[in-house]
Amino acid sequence: MTGLRYAKPVDNPNEWRNVFVYLENGNGKLKRVALEMIGAGKALAEKVSEKLVGILIGDKIEEMAREAAAYGCDVILGAQSPDLRQFRTIPYANIVGEFVEAEKPNVFLIPATRNGRDLASRIAVKCQAGVTADCTELDIEKDTRILSAHRPTYGESMLAEILCRKHRPQMATARAGIFKVPEKTQDPSACTITIKDVSVDKKYLAKEILEFRPKNKVDLTAASVVVSGGLGLGSPEGFKLIEELASVLGGEVGASRPTADLGWISRDHQVGQTGTTVRPRLYVAVGISGKIQHIMGMKNSETVISINTDPQAEIVKYSDYFINEDYKKALPALIEAIKSYKNADNEVAPAVQNQGGLAEGSQ
Ligand SMILES: Cc1cc2nc3c(=O)[nH]c(=O)nc-3n(C[C@H](O)[C@H](O)[C@H](O)COP(=O)(O)OP(=O)(O)OC[C@H]3O[C@@H](n4cnc5c(N)ncnc54)[C@H](O)[C@@H]3O)c2cc1C
Repeated sequence: MTGLRYAKPVDNPNEWRNVFVYLENGNGKLKRVALEMIGAGKALAEKVSEKLVGILIGDKIEEMAREAAAYGCDVILGAQSPDLRQFRTIPYANIVGEFVEAEKPNVFLIPATRNGRDLASRIAVKCQAGVTADCTELDIEKDTRILSAHRPTYGESMLAEILCRKHRPQMATARAGIFKVPEKTQDPSACTITIKDVSVDKKYLAKEILEFRPKNKVDLTAASVVVSGGLGLGSPEGFKLIEELASVLGGEVGASRPTADLGWISRDHQVGQTGTTVRPRLYVAVGISGKIQHIMGMKNSETVISINTDPQAEIVKYSDYFINEDYKKALPALIEAIKSYKNADNEVAPAVQNQGGLAEGSQ
């Protein structure tokens, strides 16, 4: 068989240093998931006393670079051109590949979003490395600097640990919504920002992007409050009460997968393994049994309230508060109570604030 290329082990892994993170952006703003990569990457870099290097591509990226610096990057390597305003697979992969070849990072984290997955696989092929996809836990061994990449397997029932001992960079895509956004505390001048103006070969611009219209989809990853409905609602009408509760709490509507399968609500509301991973301050699970595939998407919520007629439902184990009641009785009472609390000039601010005016995440 000819023409096949296999991942090539590197001769001297010690030549490969520092942690790269890909800073995904959209419409001139860093996506929340970019900040999550900074948080995950910083923890790894600090453990092995190396630098955290943010890779940023787009058009007019200086402001985004300064923002990423404030979130903790030590170095930002950027490339900008009007032709790179929107994500384009081949030009982006070529530029990132050049950064990798020049800088030789030990670890490279890329968000497991649509564009991130597209990019990661191409860079892995370009660099003859592998990539561990969709990681939910990351650690690094201090002495060997081997990345320990964990990802769910067997329908999320087990966690696999994947090590890449001989190839560099050690690449991983990281699931959105899992890793914490770090505090924005660093003085941007502490970061070395290098941005180069690049030109894109016209052969990669055969398709002209005339206009970019973002899909009007819900962004559950940035929500501070998520109120989710499940099959226990009994019909699509049940989502009216879910929407009302989400609205009085200033939150977003989530859903279990079967409700989306049945067309009770659109797929972008689905929380879980095959939906969105959320990390709100408050998660309300209404008529949801708590199967592992749903839990995987909401288990990092700060506070969980579940409403269910079955006190033995799995979701109860993951709940801080459990209301053992038919949702048709519980929700109107809850909505009224919150409304009168607010009318009495009380604030529900801690739960209502959105997490930073960042661009819409993409899964
Ligand atoms: C590969 C794979 C991927 C999957 N990915 C996902 C995913 O991303 N997200 C996801 O959610 N699921 C996912 N699933 C499906 C998952 O396994 C469960 O089937 C699903 O989460 C169950 O949805 P549910 O809790 O809404 O329904 P059910 O399990 O039917 O639970 C309904 C609950 O409502 C309660 N209830 C009934 N009536 C009332 C009432 N009147 N008031 C209050 N409570 C009531 C019941 O006691 C019950 O606990 C996946 C499955 C597979 C195999």
